[in-house]
Amino acid sequence: MSVATFFDSMDYGPAPEADGEARAWLARHEARFGHFIDGRFVAPAAGAHLDTAEPATGKTLARIAKGDTADIDAAVKAARAAQGPWAKLGGPARARHLYALARMIQRHGRLLAVLEAIDNGKPIRETRDLDVPLAARHFYHHAGWAQLQEREFADQQPVGVVGQIIPWNFPLLMLAWKVAPALALGNTVVLKPAEFTSLTALLFAELATQAGLPAGVLNVVTGAGETGSALVEHPNVDKIAFTGSTEVGRLIREKTAGSGKSLTLELGGKSPFIVFDDADIDGAVEGVVDAIWFNQGQVCCAGSRLLVQEGIAETFYARLKRRMASLRVGAPLDKAIDMGAIVAPVQLERIKSLVATGVAEGAALYQPQIGLPEGGCFYPPTLMTGVHPAATVATEEIFGPVLVAMTFRTPDEAVMLANNTRYGLAASVWSETIGLALDIAPKLQAGVVWVNATNLFDAGVGFGGYRESGFGREGGREGAYEYLKPKAWAARLPRAASDVPALQVVPGGMETPAIDRTAKLFVGGKQARPDGNYSRPVIGPTGRLVGEVGEGNRKDIRNAVAAARGAEAWSRATAHNRAQILYYLGENLSARAAEFAGRIAGMTGQSKGKAAAEVEASIARLFAYGAWADKFEGTVHTPPLRGLALAVHEPIGVAGVVCPDEAPLLAFVSLVAPLVAMGNRVVVVPSERHPLAATDFYQVLETSDVPAGVVNIVTGARDGLTRTLAEHEDVDALWVFGSREASALAERLSVGNLKRTLVDHGLATDWRNPAAAEGPILLRHAVQVKNIWIPYGE
Ligand code: NDP
Repeated sequence: MSVATFFDSMDYGPAPEADGEARAWLARHEARFGHFIDGRFVAPAAGAHLDTAEPATGKTLARIAKGDTADIDAAVKAARAAQGPWAKLGGPARARHLYALARMIQRHGRLLAVLEAIDNGKPIRETRDLDVPLAARHFYHHAGWAQLQEREFADQQPVGVVGQIIPWNFPLLMLAWKVAPALALGNTVVLKPAEFTSLTALLFAELATQAGLPAGVLNVVTGAGETGSALVEHPNVDKIAFTGSTEVGRLIREKTAGSGKSLTLELGGKSPFIVFDDADIDGAVEGVVDAIWFNQGQVCCAGSRLLVQEGIAETFYARLKRRMASLRVGAPLDKAIDMGAIVAPVQLERIKSLVATGVAEGAALYQPQIGLPEGGCFYPPTLMTGVHPAATVATEEIFGPVLVAMTFRTPDEAVMLANNTRYGLAASVWSETIGLALDIAPKLQAGVVWVNATNLFDAGVGFGGYRESGFGREGGREGAYEYLKPKAWAARLPRAASDVPALQVVPGGMETPAIDRTAKLFVGGKQARPDGNYSRPVIGPTGRLVGEVGEGNRKDIRNAVAAARGAEAWSRATAHNRAQILYYLGENLSARAAEFAGRIAGMTGQSKGKAAAEVEASIARLFAYGAWADKFEGTVHTPPLRGLALAVHEPIGVAGVVCPDEAPLLAFVSLVAPLVAMGNRVVVVPSERHPLAATDFYQVLETSDVPAGVVNIVTGARDGLTRTLAEHEDVDALWVFGSREASALAERLSVGNLKRTLVDHGLATDWRNPAAAEGPILLRHAVQVKNIWIPYGE
């Protein structure tokens, strides 16, 4: 065919990228790979391998090692041995390594891009222009954090050995998102790539060693789900960072519960793409293309739910369909295609079956009449209109090039529909009225919101989900903290067991007794009798009864959670207002300082002086959080584009708090105040052993203008109440301090709605030490960061 023919027809001709280098690399390894452990390729312990295929042709591409527990163990040993020296190397030296890795990615950019396109099936245009440059950017950005670590994270230390498990949709980019921050901050890594797409990770590890990365710092163990599972369960791993399905994320949460491993989960999504009737329609149509047909829709934050304002829906659908007809699906190495292949037959079948369900449930299906290559895993761009918000295709993550559309009438309805999902990863808002877009963005339950844009990413801007899209952030300063732990918590020791003395009943004398003060529960701003109408004794240090408190049960927790949910206005109150109330709490506690000191001394047996010091420290802590309330703010990021990304600190919602027995007032205040300061509403279970300081606190709350439902207190048996809080689907976060068992329970049972948990694993915090118990160390856990991207200009 001559060039002139193309001038006549204006059709695209084939524009294939050469794959010689990538195939030569495979050939050098005889298309058979071991794991990459301790700086070299090693054969799998059991000698087992798996085939990895080329999605565009279905042909076998290579054989990769199938890792088992022995392989994981060898990799963890190598990572452990390397971790100390790697951390000791210091930030500036590690920065040089990361810088070298960034340069290495750029030097081998085309090889990585081609290999990725072959292995994953995604278009070379995307691997070349997005995956590879962004991967390099991650190493550059994090080289910077390594350089600055000693100053910017002076109070933190590396977590240690990190197990990282990544999916197949962005194999190299996900590696970079995970490996760059981990290594920069002094951790070492065992990485488990996805079974379908392990090749770029192996190439990366090989090149990294050539670039001078010390042995053992980055280890790659390939295999399937069981390999990942072995990594999750390895006792010598300090942290798991996972990206993948919500289902596997839940399994990992359960398996790591109580182990002390820290965890970040970047899970699925069903992200809304909201188009208001004043949007730039053509811009928004192009946005949809990038939202759902980029990477064949196999994107966790894909804008897969189109919400269009009713008045423009027909016009919008018509223009969208016209645009869909011009999309080109073809061989990944063709530089002029828009969509490549779906990663594997199993994924293709899943897409087909979900689309069939959508049609059966009443949606109208549109697929343009465009050619698909023969053989291989190809699926056309697909639009489903008239979809009911509760339909399967509107609620399930399809993870394919399938857009479901529905309409709305008012901005409130748009927000309601957008938030009508268990996920909360991303959202896109399209309107030419900036006031409207910026009014909607904070109302969306999502970790990332793009205004008049979609699928923007940068190493300096945190990425991660709300709700069942997981927890933790990747990128930027907030992402760096995921690979660090506070020095002030590193030296915590297991809490000493303390036996409760047997109750000594001393008959009263004939003098006039003090007036009985019955401590009830505190729910919705009122003192409430416990539902079961049982009481539990509070026994003093010598065995004497010092009081009785209500025995809270499931129903009481439910009532308290409902009250906290209802106090939602607190989350919208100004930071100034919250600060005023925290100061007022401090002031009113101060007015009763002597009474509280007497109570603490009577309950715990501490000296009056020590008890008075605890009260003073509690007052100071309330003042500290009054101060922090309007100062623990977000950041304005300046990613490499014309525009900004606003990292906003938002409250998480309703938080459960379970307090330890030591420092019964100070620990209570130290845990409640940061949550309340950041706009959360709390349900608190005070110290089981010494609850009376918290029940006395009701009157401080009542006299300090704390709105009803912001702080709710349920006394009772710690483990049972922890269980109820952990299982409650309307509790968004759970902090458990006080026992190893309760910590494990909280982590294990919180999988239902994937609560953000903060637990002490039975290690005692020094509540008097502000470095360990005050300020950002806890505030960071009291907020979730939403990044609102606002590109500007044309
Ligand atoms: P998975 O969540 O199963 O896979 C993600 C990673 O976890 C892979 O490396 C996988 O290994 C590994 N893995 C699987 N099971 C376990 C386990 N029990 N313990 C530890 N690691 C494990 O996603 P899939 O690849 O199976 O895709 C299924 C669906 O998940 C998709 O259709 C899509 O809806 C969703 N998904 C969402 C992603 C996101 O970013 N939100 C990314 C990928 C998928 P291996 O691949 O070898 O099985």
